[in-house]
Amino acid sequence: MSPTDSPLHFGGCLCGAVRFCVSGEPTGGNHCHCGMCRKDSGSGVSTFVTFPANAVTWDRNPTDYESSPGKYRGFCPKCGSSLTWRSVENADTIDLRLGSFDDPTPFKAQKHLWISTALSGFSKIDPDIDHFDQGS
Ligand SMILES: [Zn+2]
Ligand SMILES: [Zn+2]
Repeated sequence: MSPTDSPLHFGGCLCGAVRFCVSGEPTGGNHCHCGMCRKDSGSGVSTFVTFPANAVTWDRNPTDYESSPGKYRGFCPKCGSSLTWRSVENADTIDLRLGSFDDPTPFKAQKHLWISTALSGFSKIDPDIDHFDQGS
């Protein structure tokens, strides 16, 4: 398959100042129930879609916040939308927030992370995929 045959997926922040395009298919996806993702998103669970880092093209890079040593959360500097999670340990991949895609419907999480700190009710969504007490 040549790159031009790869499906393209578009997304961005709430105000449109930060936009991205991703080619190809995700390599994974997760619902993260950790407390840091709750703070970052302001919601009970965060869902991410994982892509090879080099599959993502930004028309303007998100601003990074280093939430733990070597772990970065990207957000729009204008509207504050949370967009990405990445780590220097796994620099080949990037997690994009599911809700930042213009059309999130093609994507599905394959595992729950940090189920040990999940809020009641949120741990019951998507029950048929793998559950991990912590990260994986
Ligand atoms: Zn924005
Ligand atoms: Zn998390």
